[in-house]
Amino acid sequence: MTDGPTYGFDTLQIHAGARPDPATGARQTPIYQTTAYVFRDADHAAALFNLQEVGYIYSRLTNPTVAVLQERLATLEGGVGAVCCSSGHAAQIMALFALMQPGMNIVASTRLYGGTVTQFSQTIKRFGWSAKFVDFDDLDAVKAAIDDNTRAVFCESIANPGGYITDLDAIAGIADAAGIPLIVDNTSATPYLCRPIEHGATLVVHSTTKYLTGNGTVTGGCIVDSGKFDWSANDKFPSLSAPEPAYHGLKFHETFGPLAFTFHGIAIGLRDLGMTMNPQAAHYTLMGIETLSLRMQRHVENAEKVATWLESDPRVESVTYAGLESSPYFDRVKTICPKGAGGLFTFAVKGGYDACVKLVNALEIFSHVANLGDTRSLVIHSASTTHRQLTPEQQEAAGAGPNMVRISIGIEDAYDLIADLDQALAKASS
Ligand SMILES: *Cc1c(COP(=O)(O)O)cnc(C)c1O
Repeated sequence: MTDGPTYGFDTLQIHAGARPDPATGARQTPIYQTTAYVFRDADHAAALFNLQEVGYIYSRLTNPTVAVLQERLATLEGGVGAVCCSSGHAAQIMALFALMQPGMNIVASTRLYGGTVTQFSQTIKRFGWSAKFVDFDDLDAVKAAIDDNTRAVFCESIANPGGYITDLDAIAGIADAAGIPLIVDNTSATPYLCRPIEHGATLVVHSTTKYLTGNGTVTGGCIVDSGKFDWSANDKFPSLSAPEPAYHGLKFHETFGPLAFTFHGIAIGLRDLGMTMNPQAAHYTLMGIETLSLRMQRHVENAEKVATWLESDPRVESVTYAGLESSPYFDRVKTICPKGAGGLFTFAVKGGYDACVKLVNALEIFSHVANLGDTRSLVIHSASTTHRQLTPEQQEAAGAGPNMVRISIGIEDAYDLIADLDQALAKASS
């Protein structure tokens, strides 16, 4: 199918990037379970290795099943290209890899997935990179944190875990004025609810593990490139603008134009870091994406019902769902994610840490797991699990204090979910 601009999201989530298999006519995208691809002849092989011709060499770099997923995600996000990788965390490292050098930093929101806070505050130091964490509602603080060595601004559209929506347009304006890219993690929103590129994002990263796959089967990640950033406007991004010694002095931006980041991600990033998505994972994720809009509609509908019920319950102290009128981010939802605030939120339980632990143990439909974005409803007590390695201050800033429970609302019957929470809250407060 040719991806005309006239096709709607529901059509593109099924068709974008896919075409009947040229060899067999297979209508569903085959799982190309192969490591390597036969070259037509020696000249063909040389042209592929020189990046003079695009084609398949080896599945660490490219694979036809993964390529369909890349094209589908690029289309759904409104980007020009995408690189899939082995997990959401791999996608974050891959996104930064092309932009960073030792001594460089990123400015990141304090409201991020706990694993990302750990990756940015601890692990990236091993590469000589660092992160400055700032409250992204304080625009002056974001501006002030950017210095000559800042190479990217990083945030989540709907922040995990706590019902926070980032003012992407304002943040993109700041990054733009500083001549650096804005990277938005769109995992919790998905392109059905939020399209960060339309709000000025340069790169969009995903953990495809979550809503995109949607059924808790495989881990995966993706970086979608808007194609809009001018990597040669200043000398901050030599990996993309300066001659690349590993390719006989080829300049990615000059050679590939808007696809520079995507080509670099495959030709250097996947080649040398090897964080590759396998074709089986791409298959499961492609299957999931076919029903993304239907699932997200139900996730939102159920989340609104459950959050509204929880908010009115005397055993609950507060609910941080941005889709509730009581949320300070309620108005922002209309501009950033007009189809709804997602299916993920936290609530504070009266009785603190101990009551939260009892609640998690008593729930029956909700599974106690470190995951989100499944068809099944999931629950986790962040302070004792995903956010355990964080300091108390970092936990509070991330919306994961000791009295907070995070739930990922599935697509089951909302009344069953409410009944389950009701009985578990009774046990938690007894
Ligand atoms: C899960 C998650 C990640 C990390 O993704 P993995 O696939 O687990 O590596 C990053 N960001 C957000 C918002 C997430 O929910």
